[in-house]
Amino acid sequence: MSLLIRGGTIVNADGEMRADVYCEDGLIKAIGPDLEAPRDARVVDAGGQYVMPGGIDPHTHMQLPFMGTVASEDFFTGTAAGLAGGTTMIIDFVIPAPNTSLLTAYDQWREWAEKSCADYSFHVAVTWWSDQVREDMGTLARERGVNSFKHFMAYKNAIMVPDENLVQSFARCLELGAIPTVHAENGELVYHLQAEVLKMGITGPEGHPMSRPPEVEGEAANRAIRVAQVIGNPLYIVHNSCREAVEAITRARLEGQRVYGEVLAGHLLIDDSVYRHPDWDVAAAHVMSPPFRPKEHQEVLWRALQSGILHTTATDHCCFCADQKAMGRNDFTKIPNGTGGVEDRMSVLWHHGVGTGRLTRQEFVKVTSTAAAQIFNIYPRKGSVSVGADADIVVWDPKATRTISAKTHHQKVDYNIFEGMSVTGNASTTISRGKVVYEKGELKVEKGAGRYVNRPTFPTVFEAVAKVNAARALKPVQRQQEKAAE
Ligand SMILES: [Zn+2]
Repeated sequence: MSLLIRGGTIVNADGEMRADVYCEDGLIKAIGPDLEAPRDARVVDAGGQYVMPGGIDPHTHMQLPFMGTVASEDFFTGTAAGLAGGTTMIIDFVIPAPNTSLLTAYDQWREWAEKSCADYSFHVAVTWWSDQVREDMGTLARERGVNSFKHFMAYKNAIMVPDENLVQSFARCLELGAIPTVHAENGELVYHLQAEVLKMGITGPEGHPMSRPPEVEGEAANRAIRVAQVIGNPLYIVHNSCREAVEAITRARLEGQRVYGEVLAGHLLIDDSVYRHPDWDVAAAHVMSPPFRPKEHQEVLWRALQSGILHTTATDHCCFCADQKAMGRNDFTKIPNGTGGVEDRMSVLWHHGVGTGRLTRQEFVKVTSTAAAQIFNIYPRKGSVSVGADADIVVWDPKATRTISAKTHHQKVDYNIFEGMSVTGNASTTISRGKVVYEKGELKVEKGAGRYVNRPTFPTVFEAVAKVNAARALKPVQRQQEKAAE
């Protein structure tokens, strides 16, 4: 099975060049001008187009059991929709119910994901604490290819972890060389504000953002950052949505902390007016956490992405249809939280990023693919068009235009948060593991063709972190010695 991509311009995060790409057995075997290919090789004409690493969406929730229902998009339909938009890998989340085994949950998610048609990997959430959880984290990191553990600081009385467990888990991550990640919202404040808003008689979706203001996110981001600083971890903060979170990350980075930030395509472009839409279904379709923010936050997020304060773009793809959203008809706190986006992230980022001059083509590749591969330690196997890398490639037509709509999308959900948006710049051909899986608007996917991607722990980052931690530990001793010498 071999494939030649002919006549395109390769765009990587670190450069561009005119060259052909030859793939065989799922890997990129050669890159160069005017490559020869075996006679039976499939040829993809990339003339006038860009040949880029397939997108990596580091934040999705396919078929997630959540808030009394299950997300409508499963691992097959969800990865297929991703491929249609040029995304060739997702990192999803194993979320064990409190008091259930991390390993059992991990096995369950692996089973669900077997039908994926693109590559995938898993962050594992720590939703409670015990000696067994501590043990299981070790097994996952050492034997199951998990190098990131997620912590929900919101969703009180469900999957929220208190500070005690946050500290215990961060310390365990440090031992293992795994990176902690957080959903940063102060769950106690959300819980309090939800009750207050309901008491005011506000039960509709407009109450959702009122109960989760930006300060709630800023506080939690800062708390997680300080915990990571004291324990000595690097930290990854998912779906930063507001100025307050960006400010916390900026300060931490200026102080030398390795804090990485993710932003969702939706938060860059959609504002909180959606919650006041006269149609309840439309307003409820936008209920996700953190919520969409007042418009002024969008420019802050774009600038943070441009300046490298935020690093990755994701979607938090977690789909619920209107009949599921209706569970919260009389109480916004019961509306299942989540929106889609895995199919449209690349186009939306290209159109509003590269199309406006906010991002160069290379920066686009960085924030849609390479940075996630680097932070989660699968680079250059993923996130790069280079010899030896997996042949996960998108051929990108910068002139192709389409209008996003739930009527035409491949996502298994009845609403699209980008409905009606016209975008220029689209995937013309998507290649997964050296096979054409999408071309000319048509999916050619195979159930189960996607593979699980092991993500090894981080020796190099943690060697650096260990040096910093060791130097810091010495400081109080040195100070005492200096005092004694005076
Ligand atoms: Zn999420």
